[in-house]
Amino acid sequence: DGEIDFKEDAKFAQHMKDGEAASEFAKSKTISQQRQFLPIYSVRDDLLQVIRENQVIVVVGETGSGKTTQLTQYLHEEGYTVNGIVGCTQPRRVAAMSVAKRVSEEMETELGDKVGYAIRFEDVTGPNTIIKYMTDGVLMRETLRDSDLDKYRVVVMDEAHERSLNTDVLLGILKTVVARRRDFKLIVTSATLDAQKFRNFFGSAPIFEIPGRTFPVSIRYSKTPCEDYVEAAVKEAITIHITGTQGDILIFMTGQDEIEAACYALSERMEQIISTSVKEVPKLLILPIYSQLPADLQAKIFQKAEDGARKCVVATNIAETSLTVDGISYVIDTGYGKMKVYNPKMGMDALQVFPISQTAASQRAGRAGRTKPGTCYRLYTENAYLNEMLPNPVPEIQRTNLGYVVLLLKSLQVDKILDFDFVDPPPKDNILHSMYQLWVLGALNNEGRLTDQGWKMVELPLDPPLAKMLLMGEKLGCLDEVLTIVSMLSVPSVFFRPKDRAEESDAAREKFSFPESDHLTLYNVYQQWERHQYRGDWCDDHFLQVKELRKVREVRSQLLEILKTLKVKVPLTSYWPDTDKVRQAICSAYFQNAARLKGVGEYVNCRTGMPCYLHPSSALYGMGCNPEYVVYHELVLTRKEYMQCATAVEPQWLAESGPMFYYVKESDNSMLEHKKRQKGEKTAMQAEMENLRRAGAEAEKASKQKEREKRSK
Ligand code: ADP
Ligand code: MG
Repeated sequence: DGEIDFKEDAKFAQHMKDGEAASEFAKSKTISQQRQFLPIYSVRDDLLQVIRENQVIVVVGETGSGKTTQLTQYLHEEGYTVNGIVGCTQPRRVAAMSVAKRVSEEMETELGDKVGYAIRFEDVTGPNTIIKYMTDGVLMRETLRDSDLDKYRVVVMDEAHERSLNTDVLLGILKTVVARRRDFKLIVTSATLDAQKFRNFFGSAPIFEIPGRTFPVSIRYSKTPCEDYVEAAVKEAITIHITGTQGDILIFMTGQDEIEAACYALSERMEQIISTSVKEVPKLLILPIYSQLPADLQAKIFQKAEDGARKCVVATNIAETSLTVDGISYVIDTGYGKMKVYNPKMGMDALQVFPISQTAASQRAGRAGRTKPGTCYRLYTENAYLNEMLPNPVPEIQRTNLGYVVLLLKSLQVDKILDFDFVDPPPKDNILHSMYQLWVLGALNNEGRLTDQGWKMVELPLDPPLAKMLLMGEKLGCLDEVLTIVSMLSVPSVFFRPKDRAEESDAAREKFSFPESDHLTLYNVYQQWERHQYRGDWCDDHFLQVKELRKVREVRSQLLEILKTLKVKVPLTSYWPDTDKVRQAICSAYFQNAARLKGVGEYVNCRTGMPCYLHPSSALYGMGCNPEYVVYHELVLTRKEYMQCATAVEPQWLAESGPMFYYVKESDNSMLEHKKRQKGEKTAMQAEMENLRRAGAEAEKASKQKEREKRSK
């Protein structure tokens, strides 16, 4: 039944001993002894030799073998930081921060001194920094200032197998740096064996394999498809905790909401058990981890559970390869993950839940066998694994909005984006659509070259529409307000809504409402906070998250610095915002996301006919009559297609901002005509959805066919 029989394994006994040794080790030994125990240590000298002899190297090693934390230190010890620094990119912000912290501890230096990190809007490096961890996006933007990346002696592109959008673009850019600078070295690391692709991309670079030290993991599939995987995962975890042998649990979920629901259910279930049990029940330490979790809570997952207690980490796919928690013996895999998917026809990105790939499933299972043999419970059937999951994940570049990437490549003088050297080129349609969007926003001219506005937009580390909003704010004389709004949109949410005090917190939120705009409501929150001397207790009283607001303040001041370098004049804070002007600026950036009223709280996208709804938390929601036209920041697909952050706009503004899409009708808008148009839109939308479904099914079929052919070969 798919179980790997490890009892026959002659090495089993030794494995067991090693495993126990490993976990004992971590408890009792010093950091330097722990470092020497990592698999990468045993090949340190060979690895450094290969690096010495080659300009580009692909390093493959199991997750947890020491690639991320050790490679940079070896390079430093070997003298690569004498003239230049070592950079290491990560696709995830959390990983960049957490790993930098760990390495600074290993090197016994303050974080931000010799070892630092940089993520968007946060730079914790200094003049002494010689090892710099950063997101791939940060390094990508550094190429704008310094196309040869002269300050770097070596760049380690970590987690390349994740194939994040920025990693893929960087690979293309760094390939040209490698060709121009003989003194520059590039190391590409991958946790999986599909490293061949990277090797070929760089004209047969050597692949260096770090020998693994993993233990067998037995796989248990569900017999039937599971209806509610959160519930099923909680049940499984409790069963393991009560009846299973020693070892921590790792559960994979898709996102924050599910993780919180699962943690809540777990702690409730545990309380019940404790209150009804006569025997003493061992403690269960429930630890969530997802990218928006505050850093101090994130760090908790690395803490050891006290004796007799068991740890249960509930994570997004961040724990698949980016972060390694030691001591996991049980993995519960729901089989799903969230992915950002761009739909060029609808012109938007949406975070959607998808079945994971087979590669991802085996990565998840592997997390159970790091220190001793483990078990992975897959909450899906073996049939689903074999026949419904794609063999490999689809690279992000083939499924997301390329707006900023196109802008950046244009500024790097890559004129023919379709000919850029991509590891896997994105679909032509996506590129063309992104270029079209940039043209519509006024960043590209008719020849496809950057306009003056486009040059400014690329300097702002923002999605092109947000950058446009700022620049329009300047033109319309409301930059101060728009700057606050853009900064507020760069953090997840400043509102705090505890489950048990929902009504109270909603009432507090309402007090900030601007009836015609969620954007202005955000502005109002920040404005009031500023007026109250940025106080924390004031935030607590008003159900606001002070940590998030502090981030907003930081983002705001950084954007302000960039605007100054762009010679944009920043006016003094106005006492009261000119709401029309602000709404016009918002409209000029988001006119593609315009929607027209259809019913109470119910809208349709003006261009695509997609239905979309006001969220109950929106300032516009409670109004006696909803505005006829709104623009929104983004669509969030949960139970309904909710518009996140909406603002009422005038139809003339839409016509002015996006004349290629909208015009204001002069003649009477007869009811009949209106109905006919609505019907037409509905039919068009249905056809569109049908097309999408068909295209999706075909792509899947083709990829399965390919896989079958590969297998039969
Ligand atoms: P790889 O990149 O090959 O997956 P890493 O270098 O990330 O491996 O991890 C090596 C070891 O360092 C792992 O055993 C991991 O548990 C440990 N480690 C990494 N980060 C931390 C941290 N923040 N706290 C404690 N241990 C950590
Ligand atoms: Mg790593």
